[in-house]
Amino acid sequence: MTEHIAQTTTETSEPLNFHFDNKFVRELPADPVTDNHRRQVMEACYSCVTPRQFKAPELVAFSREMAEELDLSEADCQSAQFTRVFSGNEVMPDMAPHAQCYGGHQFGNWAGQLGDGRAINLGEVINKNGKRWCLQLKGSGETPYSRMADGLAVMRSSIREFLCSEAMYHLGIPTTRALSIVATGESVTRDMFYDGRPKNEPGAVVCRVAPSFLRLGSYEIFTSRGDIETLRKLVDYTLETDFPHLGAPGKETYLNWFREICERTADMVVDWMRVGFVHGVFNTDNTSVLGLTIDYGPYGWVDDYDPNWTPNTTDATGRRYRFGAQPQIAQWNLLQMANAIYPLIDDAEALRDILNDYVTVYTDKWQQMRADKLGLAEFKPEDEELNQELNRVMQFTETDMTLFYRHLADVSVKDIDADEDTLLAPLMVAFYAPESLNRTDKTEFVAWIRRYLQRVKDDGVDDKTRKAKMNRVNPKFVLRNYLSQLAIDKAEQGDYSLVNELLEVMRRPYDEQPQYHEYAAKRPDWARNKPGCSMLSCSS
Ligand code: AMP
Ligand code: MG
Repeated sequence: MTEHIAQTTTETSEPLNFHFDNKFVRELPADPVTDNHRRQVMEACYSCVTPRQFKAPELVAFSREMAEELDLSEADCQSAQFTRVFSGNEVMPDMAPHAQCYGGHQFGNWAGQLGDGRAINLGEVINKNGKRWCLQLKGSGETPYSRMADGLAVMRSSIREFLCSEAMYHLGIPTTRALSIVATGESVTRDMFYDGRPKNEPGAVVCRVAPSFLRLGSYEIFTSRGDIETLRKLVDYTLETDFPHLGAPGKETYLNWFREICERTADMVVDWMRVGFVHGVFNTDNTSVLGLTIDYGPYGWVDDYDPNWTPNTTDATGRRYRFGAQPQIAQWNLLQMANAIYPLIDDAEALRDILNDYVTVYTDKWQQMRADKLGLAEFKPEDEELNQELNRVMQFTETDMTLFYRHLADVSVKDIDADEDTLLAPLMVAFYAPESLNRTDKTEFVAWIRRYLQRVKDDGVDDKTRKAKMNRVNPKFVLRNYLSQLAIDKAEQGDYSLVNELLEVMRRPYDEQPQYHEYAAKRPDWARNKPGCSMLSCSS
C-alpha cells in the first residue's frame, strides 16, 4: 500500500491560466431573464447563473490525467486558487457561468423541463492541442432549473461520481470526466431513502469535464414545445462543434448524425455490458449525444452475475434500468431522439431504418465483445449456446462476474480432461459460496469449462496468448460498490486517503498491480445488503 500525502494548498504558485472560448454561450440563444428564480425557460438553450459561495472549501482529490489534459501542473492543482475556482468561490474573468435547459423522458414518461438543476457550466477551455473541454461544477447551487431541490450535492455521491468517471476512462469506456472534488465545508440535508428520516451530510462539488454535456433531452425539450427554430439552431451548432466530419447541415447530414449517435450509444452500452456496469437511471436526460457515460447517480457494478440486478432502489419494482435491459433501453432512448429530430428531417422511414439497424450494429459489437472476453478470435453462431449456458451456470452458482472472467484466463487447455477440482481450482475465488457448491453444481460448471476449452482448442490459440488477450478486456479492478462506500465512510470523517488510493488503483484496471490485490476482492458479506453497497437511491 502506498502512502498518500494529504492534499495541501499553497498561495505561492502562479495564477491559473486557461484559454476560454465560450462558444455555446456565444452562439446559442440565451434566456433573457438573469435573476435566479425557478421558471420555465422558453426559446433559449441556457440561463446565466453565478455559482454559490461556500464557507470553507477544501480539496479532496484531483485527477492528474484530466489536469494534464487541461494543461494544469500538480502545483496548479494544489494551489489555493484551484480550490477556490473549482468550488465556485472564484469566477475567473473569462468564464461565462451558465445552466443549460433540457428536458427528458424519466422512467419511460415525458418529464418536461429538467435542465441543469445543480450543475453550472463555467465555460469552454481550449487546451494547447486545440481540443475543446467544457468545465462544469456539480453541486454548486441553485439555478432556474432547480425545481423543488437545493442545487447541492453530498460528499457520498460526489465521491462516487468523481471516482467512477475516472475509473471508466481508464477502463477505456466513453465517459464524461472529473477534474476535481472539493468538500464545501457546509452540510446538506438529505432523506437518503425517502423514508422521512432526513440527515445532515457533508457537501461537495465535483468539476466535471467533457467535450459537451448535451443530452438527448437537450433536443427533446424544443420539439416538445414546437420550437423548431431553436431545435435547428442547437442541432446545427452540435454538428459544427462536435461532429464537423459530417459536413454541412441538411437532411442527409442529419440522418448520418443520427446514425452516428446510434453507433456511439451502442459502443458505450457494449462496454457497460463488458465490465458489469449498471447506469441505474438511463433516462433520456442522462443519455449523452456524444455517446459518453453521463450523470453518475445510483449506478452500480455487478458483483455476482445477475442480468436482473439494479442498484437503484427507486427502480426496484419495475427494474426498468436493470443490467440486462440496458441495450433495449438505449434503443428506446434513441427512438425518443428520432422523434425529437424528426421535424428537421420529415422522413419517418429513414429514421426507422436507422433505429432498426441499431439492433444489428449492437449485436455485431456485442458478439465481438463476448468473443474477446472469452479469448476467442470471433463469435460463431454456435457460440450463442456456449454463451447462454455460461450465463445460466454463473447465476445458479452465484459467481462474481469480474473475478470469473479474469480467472477464466488461467484455466488451461492442457487440463481439458483433468478432474473436476483441477479444472475448477482457478475459478474457486469467483464463487460467493464455494463451500455450498454441490456435486451437480460442480459437474455442470465443469461441463461448461470443458466445452469452452474445446472451443478454444479449435481456435488454435495457446494459453499464454489467450490470457494476454483476455486480460486486456477483462479488468482485474472495477470500482465495486463496497470500495466506494469504504472511501466515503472515511471521507465523511475528513480522511481522504482512500479516495486518493482508489483513484490510483483504478488508473490501471487491467494490470495485475499485486500491491493492490485486496481491491480486487469480491464483495464482502457485510456489504451484501448495505445501503450504498447494494442499494442506492436517486437522493444525492
Ligand atoms: P438526475 O436524476 O440526477 O439526472 O437528475 C434529474 C434532474 O433533477 C436534473 O435536471 C437535475 O439537475 C435535477 N436535480 C437532481 N438533484 C438536484 C438537486 N439537488 N438540486 C437541484 N436539481 C437537482
Ligand atoms: Mg441527470
